[in-house]
Amino acid sequence: MLIVMQQTATEADIAQVVAAIEKRGCVARPIPGGDRVSVGVLHNEGPLDTAMFLGLAGVKDVIPVTRPYKLVCRETQHTDTVVRVGDVAIGGGHFAVIAGPCAIESEAQALAIAEAVKGAGAQMFRGGAFKPRTSPYSFQGLGEAGLRILATVREKTGMPVVTEVMDESGFSLVESYADMIQIGTRNMQNFSLLRRAGRSAKPIMLKRGMAATIEEWLMAAEYILEGGNTNVVLCERGVRTFVHHSRNTLDLSAVPYVRNESHLPIIVDPSHAAGRRDQVIPLSRAAAAGDAHGLMVEVHHQPEMAMSDGAQSLYPEQFALLCRQVAGIRRVMAETV
Ligand code: PEP
Ligand code: MN
Repeated sequence: MLIVMQQTATEADIAQVVAAIEKRGCVARPIPGGDRVSVGVLHNEGPLDTAMFLGLAGVKDVIPVTRPYKLVCRETQHTDTVVRVGDVAIGGGHFAVIAGPCAIESEAQALAIAEAVKGAGAQMFRGGAFKPRTSPYSFQGLGEAGLRILATVREKTGMPVVTEVMDESGFSLVESYADMIQIGTRNMQNFSLLRRAGRSAKPIMLKRGMAATIEEWLMAAEYILEGGNTNVVLCERGVRTFVHHSRNTLDLSAVPYVRNESHLPIIVDPSHAAGRRDQVIPLSRAAAAGDAHGLMVEVHHQPEMAMSDGAQSLYPEQFALLCRQVAGIRRVMAETV
């Protein structure tokens, strides 16, 4: 349930509503809106007495929230959330391109790729220091040394950095270096990790589980918002299907669906969807045309030498073409509203 306050409601009116909610054993969550505050009611086990709330000073309306993801849904917040990472904005009318290698391999590798993607138009740099690998024998990432390299990249290029956290025990370390924290597909329903992310002051990029429905994905985001962190970016990265022509199947219809259901920004990762370089540029164009709020793309200056995901990593000049084409698509879209 959502209690919508009048524009003229005072702090005392809001406090009275919060107290009435808490008196009934529920949790009150004030949600600042454009011109008025709403107070969300969480953890109620059944319907509450609407008339009683309507009788309180400063209350304009009491509306039921029909979706199970109470804080994430549009019913609770009509306006788009814009997530800010340093100078970069994602969501609303803001489109962000995030790029970098799958894994940080060395300072020279990271800086070479960072300079190249920045020159092509990327606004944020991404690289894994802790890598979730299918095989325990595969390269697992450089760990904290990789995080230090990310800090160097930020210092030298000015780009904010995003990197993956693998587990709750490593959260504080990753949090101390990253500007945005990635939760990967294999961890989308790692609930203790989601709760820890909910207590973080850093924005979270939550990738869709490889077999997750959209409802499960939005419920995972709900854990983070329920914990108090409203800066969540969703990332569609493809789901597992029966096909062999791509690593996963990019579910582009997720973009308009999520945009209707939720106020959170949604970006697309064509690299892990495709698993192969030749599909990444067409899928990126499609994602931009499909109204995604951004892209996350794997790029490597020597993909044949990459320690992970080389086959899906673009060469820098391909990434530059991608950026030009995506900018062109966005221009056309802006001109033809
Ligand atoms: C990654 O982003 O490098 C990654 C491991 O992605 P995903 O969690 O989508 O597989
Ligand atoms: Mn990867």
